[in-house]
Order: sequence, then C-alpha cells, then structure tokens
Amino acid sequence: MSSQKMKAWVFYEPEVMKLEEVDVPQIEDDEVLIKVKACGICGSDVAYYWGDSPLETPDGKGPLILGHEFSGEVVEVGKIPAQKKLLKAGDRVTVNPVQYCNACEVCYRGQVNLCENKAVLGVSANGAFAEYVAANYQHVYKLSDNVSYSAGAFVEPLANAVYGVKNLDVGLGNRVVVFGPGPIGLSIATLAKKRGAGEVILAGTRDYRLEVGKNMGVDRVYNLNEEQSPYYTSDFKEEIGRLTEGKMADRVIVVTGSKKAMQMALEVSGRRSIIVYFGLPGEKDLLEVPALQTIFWDKTIRFSWLASFTWVEAIQAVDSGLVDVNKLITHHFSLESLMEGLLVAKEKRGNPLRVMIDID
Ligand SMILES: [Zn+2]
Ligand SMILES: [Zn+2]
Repeated sequence: MSSQKMKAWVFYEPEVMKLEEVDVPQIEDDEVLIKVKACGICGSDVAYYWGDSPLETPDGKGPLILGHEFSGEVVEVGKIPAQKKLLKAGDRVTVNPVQYCNACEVCYRGQVNLCENKAVLGVSANGAFAEYVAANYQHVYKLSDNVSYSAGAFVEPLANAVYGVKNLDVGLGNRVVVFGPGPIGLSIATLAKKRGAGEVILAGTRDYRLEVGKNMGVDRVYNLNEEQSPYYTSDFKEEIGRLTEGKMADRVIVVTGSKKAMQMALEVSGRRSIIVYFGLPGEKDLLEVPALQTIFWDKTIRFSWLASFTWVEAIQAVDSGLVDVNKLITHHFSLESLMEGLLVAKEKRGNPLRVMIDID
C-alpha cells in the first residue's frame, strides 16, 4: 500500500482545510489499515475548523486530518494482530480514537481515558476524513454485520454516553433530568430510561431535538429558551419542584457546556442526588456551588470525560437496538462535500443531529 495515494481533508489552520491526494498511511507492526466507510462530524470538529478550540498536537496546530468518530473495513493487518489472529482483512470495525498506551501507571490503574501518552486520531494524530486511516490494533472493535457503518461511526459518542450514564448511577424509579438534547444527550436520556429510571426529563433550547427525545422514550421535555414553544417553561426549577412535590430530581446530567444549564443542575437536584457534568464549558468558566445547601442535601457532584472500558457495552447497545442511533443520524454527505456537512452542523441547517460523512 506504501506508494498508493488517497483523498484526505488536511486541516492547516482555522478555516483552511484542503481536500488533497496524500500517501495512504504505512502501518507499523501493531497497527491495522482501515478503509474508512463512515465518519461523523462532532461538535469538536466544528470547533477545530472555526478556531474555537486548538488541536491536541504539540503546537495546537495542523496539518492534521480531522475526524474521530468512524467505522470502516480492515484492509491490512500488522504483524502483531495478525499473529494473534485478532483481526483480518474484510473485518467491519469501529475504532476508539483515544489510543491510550496501556502501559503507564494511569492505564494500569484502569483510568485509560486519562492516559497522558495517548494519541487521539483526528485530534492529535491523523483521523478519518480520508479514504484510509491507520489505528493501533488494541483499540479496534469488530462490528456485527447487522450494524450499518454509519451506526458503527456513532459508537464513539455512544461509548462516552455509556460512561456518563455509569457515572450517573441511575437507580430504579429515579427521576432523571438531562440538560442538552444533542445526539449524546439523547443517547444518555435513552440509556438512563433503559437502566431503570422512573421518569426522564429532557431540557433544551430547540424543539426539534426535544421531539426526537419524546420519540425515543423520554417522558417529559422542556424548552428553556423559546417562548413560542409548546414545551416552554420560564421557571424550570419551579416546574421540577411541582412535579416532584418539592423533592426535586434524583439524578441530573448536564450534556451541554451552557453555564446556565450547569448552574441550574444544582437547583433542580434533590436530597442525596448525583449530578454529572459531561458537556464542555469554556476554558475559563467557573461553577458556583451553593455549598451549604449542597452539603445539607448530601449531594454528589461528578464529572465525566471520554470513556473508560465502555466500548463493548456501547457496541452491544447499538447491536441490540437498545439505542436507535439511526434516529440520531440525520444528514449524510460524501467525503468531497465535507465542508457542506460542517456548515450544516455549525449552523444547524435543516435541524441536524449527527451529520455523517459516507466514504467509498
Ligand atoms: Zn466526538
Ligand atoms: Zn497510558
């Protein structure tokens, strides 16, 4: 494969990304080469492209091929995975882009999402807005034949959602509030319900997203922003108080970086509640915790970052239909039309949830 060329979008700097002919990656002994079939556009890709967030390369800059939520077909297998008979050409796979080292103390403690030696495909190493991508075999997961490539490309966000829901520790019958009905928030709402929540309440600012939530089994939805919305409430805290006779929510997860939502989570959570912060705030944002009230109600505040050993469960959740990811994938574009897809994702043109790039 060494001398072959492929099409890839190379990101140089904010708003400068070019579709180029580059060399197909040459794999090492511990890598596999994957022909990319689908790659989702994540909010972070939008942030990288428009310069709202630096890359995780040493200098925060390109050139780099973006795209970290992908699936594809194995076309070449390095010596080590071949010898272990783990993977073969033709396997349908998805890949954890967070390629942790599996050999540092952090990894040995099982905190693999926090490994300091990790390479993140599409963020600090070349990703999948390209025809081919190389990945370490330890982070490649097989997909069953009944899972589509675009569903396979949603396993990465779903694995993070599964980790978030684990941190939320939903108890049977719990009243759960989810802030942020994006594709991950909707996944979390569905998973919370399937894990035994009594009532899942979804709060957001866009009706079309709240309606997908209703369609996926969420019990109640609230629009906190648009007065003309049938789901509008001007006082969410009072609403939760009324619904729970003052007891407030048992579990609250914030799947948005909105400061307002982060703050409100502290107000709508009840006695011995668990609050999980999942969405990314701005670099300098601070959270104001009403300390005494939080102590008196014996609350637990947690944070959730990436995923730690939840990939197999995420794949099973897709495979078994536990989460209908096809409801979350709303738009498809070709590799050549990536820029159009980025615009749709950024400007929410045509009510998108996940925008998928299909590649052959
Ligand atoms: Zn992502
Ligand atoms: Zn490590």
